[in-house]
Formats: sequence, C-alpha cells, structure tokens
Amino acid sequence: MRIIREDQLIKKNEKVAVAVSGGKDSLTLAYLLKKLQARYPFQMEAIIVDEGISGYRAHTLDAAKSQLEKLEIEYHIESFKDNFGKTLDSFVENNKENACSTCGILRRYILNKKARELSCTKLATGHNLDDEDQSVIMNLMRGDVIRFSRGQNYYKKISDKFVERIKPLRYFLEKEIVIFALNNKLTFDSSECPYAEYAMRGEVGKFLDRMEELRPTTKYSLLSGYDKVLPALNQCFIPDSIGICEVCGEPTMDGTCMRCKILEKE
Ligand code: SF4
Ligand SMILES: [Zn+2]
Repeated sequence: MRIIREDQLIKKNEKVAVAVSGGKDSLTLAYLLKKLQARYPFQMEAIIVDEGISGYRAHTLDAAKSQLEKLEIEYHIESFKDNFGKTLDSFVENNKENACSTCGILRRYILNKKARELSCTKLATGHNLDDEDQSVIMNLMRGDVIRFSRGQNYYKKISDKFVERIKPLRYFLEKEIVIFALNNKLTFDSSECPYAEYAMRGEVGKFLDRMEELRPTTKYSLLSGYDKVLPALNQCFIPDSIGICEVCGEPTMDGTCMRCKILEKE
C-alpha cells in the first residue's frame, strides 16, 4: 500500500471504483484497499461484471459477492445481457477465437461507464506483473504499435469521459498474490474461463515463466523497462483531441467506437 500513497494513486477523499471478478487478484486488491481505508480517507465501491459465460461466471460471482460482503464493500453487478441485450456466450457462439477481445472491449466499456455514473475518479483493477508483461509482449507480437505505445491512461489524457485507471498490484507476481490471498484466507475462485484456451495470453505466459526460471527478475525488468520508455512513446502517438462515437456518444478514435462496431455486427 506504500505504492498507493507514495505514487499518489489515490488522493485523500477521492472515490474509487474497484473492478472485481471473483479471482485472487481483484479480491486481494479489494482487501488491501479496505485495509488502507482504515488509515487513509477515501471512498470505495466495487463493480462486478457478469459477462454471461456458462459454467464459469456463476462461481466467480459467488466468490466475489461473498468476499465483498465479508469486507463490507458495497458492490454493483452489471451484466452484458442487461447492457447489450446478450451474453458473451451468444456474442461469440460462432467465433470463440474472438471471445477475449469482445469480452475485453465490452467489459472496459461497462466499467468506465459505471465508474463514471458512480462519480468515481479512479477505476482500480487487479492486474498483476504477469498480466502486464503478457500484454506488452502480445501487443508487440501482433505488431500493434499504437496499443503498445499508449499505456493505461492514454485516453484519459485527452478526454474527461474516461475514468483514470490504476493498477496497484502491477509490480507483484501472480504467485505472490496467490500466496497472499491464501495466507489471508480470502474467498476466491480459481477456475479458468472456458475461452482462455483460445487466447494467445496463455502461451505468452508460459514463455515468460520459462524466461523467469532461466533468468530471475526477467518479468520485473520487462515491465520496468517498458514503463521507462512509455512517456516517449506516448508523445509520439497521443493525438491532440479525440472524437465522439456517432452511435453512443462515448469517446473514440474512429467515427464509431469498438463497442458499437461489435453491436452493429449482431
Ligand atoms: S479469458 Fe477471455 S473471455 Fe474469459 S473472462 Fe478473460 S477476457 Fe473474458
Ligand atoms: Zn459507440
């Protein structure tokens, strides 16, 4: 929690939305933020997104609700079905390979919109060092130079409609978080999403695990090196302004935002 105070990730009396999935990372984050709240004044509410993934999401939802109730953190459940009229399962019925990108775009849209509705000025997520490194490598492997160069608060710098994102656990290894969650007897769900097998992330994660074994601190060095070059990359790729989606009114780089493009296809 030193990171939050020294880096001023959360300012005094700010209102923070914490995104909770029911897994170890987000529940560890909620637990730590609750502890911090006892010593440092800020408000917090949780947002749980129910994507509609059969055989998986129900367990994680139960874990999220149970642990948040123990921590006495108020939460809001937002589903794909209520927001977009369909579950993720229906969206990707014939295109499972695209599940993670569809899921990510629609989930980020809900989290940002709900955090804004709750008047939160920060949106905290439980991404760990493994997640962050995997994203850096995946963006490079896809040749997605623009995404690689943006960083987490790229859009916030050019539009107030984006709630600033913070990732207080991004320098902690996944295994450190598992140990912390177990030691503190947190209720979390460790089942794997059925769509994870279609994602590139798993293979990249295995590669990084092997590198870390061969050269300990590889994971840390990768992220800290990336963070050092990010300000320069940002300068090359941040436009002066951003447009408004002609369909939903949310900010976007193109005429129509990614979320509306997904909904249009249906
Ligand atoms: S593995 Fe992919 S589809 Fe499953 S919850 Fe994560 S991002 Fe969504
Ligand atoms: Zn839109």
